[in-house]
Amino acid sequence: MALGADLRAELVRAVAATIERHAEELTTLDQAIGDGDHGLNMKRGFEAVLADVANLSAKPWPDFLKGVGTMLVMKVGGASGPLYGTLFMGLGKDLPAEPTFADLVRAFRGAITAVQARGKSERGQKTMLDVLIPVAEKLEAGVMEAGTITLAAHAAADATIPGKALRGRASFLGDRSIGHMDPGARSSALMIESVAKVLEKA
Ligand code: ADP
Ligand code: MG
Repeated sequence: MALGADLRAELVRAVAATIERHAEELTTLDQAIGDGDHGLNMKRGFEAVLADVANLSAKPWPDFLKGVGTMLVMKVGGASGPLYGTLFMGLGKDLPAEPTFADLVRAFRGAITAVQARGKSERGQKTMLDVLIPVAEKLEAGVMEAGTITLAAHAAADATIPGKALRGRASFLGDRSIGHMDPGARSSALMIESVAKVLEKA
């Protein structure tokens, strides 16, 4: 498969389907340490992206990714909307129209840096960054195999369980946030898994 419109559309469909399938689970995780809206937030956002998939995927990579990010900012809401929006907009920034895999890896790191700036957050605070950063490190180390990336993402999400939340709503709970997986870490791992699966076949 060429790195073109069909691939962009397939990525959207795969991520939207994963979020749809796991919406209740994400909500349950957010009920434990937040306000219980993460599944609904993400579902609303990716339903909107999916509804616009033909238009979005027809755009070249930078505009496609910025378009997805803009939609997420508008539709997801909560803390995760602006943060995931920043992630996708950041991916599209400085990306050549026909990116190589190396370009995408570089863009992923840049996008994570933008999320950190937006969230005033870093690794180890029990957020989505606890998944995004280790996955970026794996990719930068040259690990490309979809199964390995997927395992790393899920292991990183699991590793948020014993952590104490220091950012976002869950941080209001202090020590009571310990013992639960961070919902945003889980949604990041799920999205990474579905992207890795699609790219593996590309
Ligand atoms: P809200 O917390 O506003 O209800 P969501 O429930 O949709 O928004 O999203 C919560 C998730 O957002 C958290 O699980 C965490 O991963 C992520 N998050 C919250 N604040 C930050 C932050 N400052 N930096 C990075 N991620 C954050
Ligand atoms: Mg919430």
